[in-house]
Amino acid sequence: MGPIRIAIPDGIDVQQESEMPDAPTGADSTPQDHPESGQVEHEEQAVYPPPSEFVQHAVARPSLYEEANRDRLAFWRSRASVLSWKTPFTQTLDWSDPPFAKWFADGTLNACYNCVDRHVEAGHGEQVALLAEYEDGGDARYTYAQLQDEVSRMANVLGDMGVRTGDRVAIYLPMIPEAVIAMLACARIGAPHSVVFGGFSADALRSRIEDAEATAVITADGQYRRGKAMPLKPAVDEALSKGAESIQKVLVVRRTGAEVEWTEGRDVWWHEARESASTEHEPVWVQAEHPLFILYTSGTTGKPKGIVHTTGGYLTQAAYTHRAVFDLKPSSDVYWCTADVGWVTGHTYVVYGPLANRATQVIYEGTPDTPHQGRWWEVVEKYKVSLFYSSPTAIRTAMKWGEEIPGRFDLTSLRLLGSVGESINPEAWRWYHRVIGGGRCPIVDTWWQTETGAIMISPLPGVTSAKPGSAQTPLPGIIADVLNDAGEPVANGDAGYLVLTEPWPSMLRGIWGDEQRFKDTYWSRFPGRYFAGDGAKKDEDGDIWLLGRVDDVMNVSGHRLSTTEIESSLVAHDWVAEAAVVGASDETTGQAVVAFVILREEAIEQVEAAGGAEKAAEELRQHVGREIGPIAKPKKVLVVTELPKTRSGKIMRRLLRDVAENRQVGDTQTLADSSVMDLIQQGFSGSR
Ligand code: ATP
Ligand code: MG
Repeated sequence: MGPIRIAIPDGIDVQQESEMPDAPTGADSTPQDHPESGQVEHEEQAVYPPPSEFVQHAVARPSLYEEANRDRLAFWRSRASVLSWKTPFTQTLDWSDPPFAKWFADGTLNACYNCVDRHVEAGHGEQVALLAEYEDGGDARYTYAQLQDEVSRMANVLGDMGVRTGDRVAIYLPMIPEAVIAMLACARIGAPHSVVFGGFSADALRSRIEDAEATAVITADGQYRRGKAMPLKPAVDEALSKGAESIQKVLVVRRTGAEVEWTEGRDVWWHEARESASTEHEPVWVQAEHPLFILYTSGTTGKPKGIVHTTGGYLTQAAYTHRAVFDLKPSSDVYWCTADVGWVTGHTYVVYGPLANRATQVIYEGTPDTPHQGRWWEVVEKYKVSLFYSSPTAIRTAMKWGEEIPGRFDLTSLRLLGSVGESINPEAWRWYHRVIGGGRCPIVDTWWQTETGAIMISPLPGVTSAKPGSAQTPLPGIIADVLNDAGEPVANGDAGYLVLTEPWPSMLRGIWGDEQRFKDTYWSRFPGRYFAGDGAKKDEDGDIWLLGRVDDVMNVSGHRLSTTEIESSLVAHDWVAEAAVVGASDETTGQAVVAFVILREEAIEQVEAAGGAEKAAEELRQHVGREIGPIAKPKKVLVVTELPKTRSGKIMRRLLRDVAENRQVGDTQTLADSSVMDLIQQGFSGSR
């Protein structure tokens, strides 16, 4: 791979920035510009030091890096000792048979016990664990003591249904407390769960059940989506009628009260079984390497992979990263991660990390715009959320709707914001910081994957001076690098492939049932090192900027162009809320850049006044040409109203590439809304 052309925002003047004091002197996190220029001329030139208030009380201090650098394995041992072990481990890492790592292998523990019981035993039974907000405005709360009763009951019910340690259980539920309870109940008996997003089709559910040979499904009669009760159990019935023969039992949560078909002997109502189930249940103590769950990747780049995570290492890193990166103060914070449990973020940063750390957290059933576009901000105000973790796509959508909407709510309880899923465009970062964070909250841009199990690269909120758009630094204990084609580290300022060079506790232990694909996908490109599949650049400070999937990199007249860079440039234009670019084959240049953009609502009038979509397209082409260079100018810019996104909010560029190359559109199984592709295709052929 030749050099990827990168435009990290101009003006992050490293020389100047490295002269900044480590601990910021400023009272709050207002942007700092070049000292010479004396004032903030271009906001995009700023770095954001952590507010001094924040620094003083921060969980993670600079010494954490020192500790990890001194002795990495000792560092991880010490993180693991934060958990409660039934049998303490004496081994830290066994890396004698790469790529199969074993962490803390001779220790035994239980993940559910660590997330629930031990907090009750320590006297925190009355602390609220879950603040459940339903879409229609109803709510429910569970203290840790109540959660302990519920998980014990469900573990007993699953046991009565015949689920044994080691059996796989599929979970197909909406974002309601029972989803969390179901995952923990499985963990309690050592039955690995496979959560399938509640919006997926019967076919997607069936193929995942079959791949994992699950013996039971936990589902609900239905779920609320945009104010409507939608059926859920019928999809299970359909999946089981077409295959999924390994399934013996179906546990059904009543949510909407809709009538459902019933298979006697197979289907069990949770509310009925719960009545007679005991609240006493002895957790099954498992080896640290016992599988905790299987989770299928979002399928952005191809067929979803069934990623396997184990118990001890995963929980260690989930707890540590959650506490350090989100600066969690268990007794005073209200934490909210907007991810669905169907996504890895919902596993690590709704269930296992926060609960292992005894957080009080919000879980929200519905969509951000039901019944109105201020719904999320209303929830922040209602529960006085202090730590908020979401995705760039959600931020850009809020940008599209306009800042007067969050402006109607009191967001002053917030003290930290997080982002995950894609690179956050600098423009969206600054909007998030200013509009949602009131200019006062550090933002953690967290890079990680289903495979890594936990956050790997991220600022530490009380330590790092943030650079909008960059995930910046591997967390203490993690070693990452950017390599060139030959497998050598690139120099600062250059781009290449992101790799992880040392094993980490929450690393995947494989792809379920496919050892060869595991080796080929992650370990063959650079032997001995984990290849993440993402392009990245090291800036002059050595900070890491994610550039998008290596599969999505475009090659125009021999120049490698990153999707992230061009998309960020488009989003930086006042008219644009979201952008996706792809390389479409082109006779003269090899590939040509094709851009799909969504306009901000407040810009639509301006665009009309400027001459409509065609004029807007020309203006945006010129804008990218000016910002990055003529080579990056999109050949075509298409204004659309939606982009194809996965359930976790990632843009599926491979489908846009199909459209741009006039091909049949590929597999849309994991798309949030498959009708989006028809609209885009029509728009594309109409514009030809
Ligand atoms: P598949 O592997 O099936 O294509 P996926 O990679 O989309 O699915 P995930 O594991 O949920 O599924 O996503 C991980 C990817 O998300 C990373 O490899 C990276 O491309 C992107 N990503 C996550 N967080 C960030 C971030 N903070 N900055 C940039 N990219 C990110
Ligand atoms: Mg991936």
